[in-house]
Amino acid sequence: MEEKIYIIGHKQPDTDSICAPIAYAQYLKQKGENAVAVKSGEINPETKYVLDYFETEVPETLTDATKKTIILLDHNEKTQSLDNIDKAKIIEVIDHHKIDFQCTNPIYFHNEPIGSTSTIIAKKYFNDKDVNLDKKTAGLLLSGILSDTVIFKSPTSTSEDKEIAEKLAGIAEIKNIQDFGIEIKKSKASLEGLTTEQIILSDFKIFEFGKIRIGGGQVEVLGMDEINEKKQELLEKLKEIAQKENYDLVMLIATDIIKQDSLLLFFEKDNYIEKAFNKKPENNTLYLEGVMSRKKQIIPPLAKLFSGN
Ligand code: MN
Ligand code: MN
Repeated sequence: MEEKIYIIGHKQPDTDSICAPIAYAQYLKQKGENAVAVKSGEINPETKYVLDYFETEVPETLTDATKKTIILLDHNEKTQSLDNIDKAKIIEVIDHHKIDFQCTNPIYFHNEPIGSTSTIIAKKYFNDKDVNLDKKTAGLLLSGILSDTVIFKSPTSTSEDKEIAEKLAGIAEIKNIQDFGIEIKKSKASLEGLTTEQIILSDFKIFEFGKIRIGGGQVEVLGMDEINEKKQELLEKLKEIAQKENYDLVMLIATDIIKQDSLLLFFEKDNYIEKAFNKKPENNTLYLEGVMSRKKQIIPPLAKLFSGN
């Protein structure tokens, strides 16, 4: 038996971080590898909707990477990986985020400035005549693209994402991509019944710039009403998290997927937000018009500030 290979996305997995590993495991199995898709955290309601829709089982959770052979998908920064990733044997990385990765051996490292990891996996299928892409797997990859690109509205979305999505929709027999996209987004866009902690941490990423430690959660909403109602409580919780986990800046990015704007709620040790975005915040909130992407529009100005450029 071949060595078992675990394919895994980031913590607080989104749809791309679940669907791309499932599809890539299928791909590698057809190549004779003993590959299995796993997850490093509970799935969100959007991903549950997608897995149910395409009648796919939820992957098992892997909590400790020690001595495992691993392929990282949809992330490369160790702060976003499962525990003890330093004690794992990482053999490959496939991602579409900024790179902050070190490894002492040569490995396969595939990074593209593209809308989703699912797009990259779909291209692998389309470029390889020896593998078959079935209807369910095509549907999962399509969902990963629609989720990450916010139905092609995010500035991270490229024309290639759209082309690949159309091909996938044909195989998955999804007639109206737009309608299907809205359907999957709707399943996650309500904050009802969530605690402030759940709202902040449901899609939370940690970034380190030298000694500066940033935490940023993001939620997608249909209008800002629910966020505005909970604003004070959310700000208090952000402060609590910052103090407990020693963050220099911790924020919640609430992105209105209809208006395509974001409201930033934050707690900071210094006035970083004002410096990074050149706008004066009010009561620890800042409205950013036309901003939807954490990695392309929120993190880069902060990275620039902290690197002193
Ligand atoms: Mn992701
Ligand atoms: Mn992704």
